[in-house]
Amino acid sequence: MDLQSHIRSIPDFPKPGILFRDINPLLRSPEAMAEVISQFGRICDQVKPDLIVGIESRGFIFGAPLASDRRLGFVPVRKPGKLPGEVVGLDYALEYGTDRLEIQADALEHSPRVLVVDDLLATGGTAAATGQLVEQAGGCLVGFAFVIELEGFGGRRALPAGQPVEALLRYG
Ligand code: 5GP
Repeated sequence: MDLQSHIRSIPDFPKPGILFRDINPLLRSPEAMAEVISQFGRICDQVKPDLIVGIESRGFIFGAPLASDRRLGFVPVRKPGKLPGEVVGLDYALEYGTDRLEIQADALEHSPRVLVVDDLLATGGTAAATGQLVEQAGGCLVGFAFVIELEGFGGRRALPAGQPVEALLRYG
């Protein structure tokens, strides 16, 4: 299965100069989606998570079906102000300004092994912040899984050394 043929490259989105990798054609193909979940399942065989943490919002699209397929729980990491009840939050630096991610405070209270899932790794800022948040909330990080890695942004180097980082597709 050629997953790459299901990714569309859109120039100048969302801003001029950005070449956006569009996963929507992949979502429209049940065969491609099944292949992603199957390949992510093999990563689960290796790192043996107890639950999947998905990063808002495209991490939900892949993380939730993976969790269901593997009979694991799913926990969303969300932008601020979206989750009800007590939350643990983490502010992290962007190129211009800061952003914040939150997780429900009781979501990881039994120190589960956590695999973090997102659609794409670029600078690694979002995934690194999610990894820190998982640990802050009591989870035991066992790896990161992405559909796409944009290697030119060096995101792997932003992630904790020694953690497995898997990507199904790589762009230079
Ligand atoms: P990073 O924090 O690694 O620089 O950026 C990764 C985050 O930005 C991911 O949550 C991802 O959804 C989003 N992102 C950045 N660039 C792209 C892109 O070209 N395509 C898609 N689908 N998502 C992107």
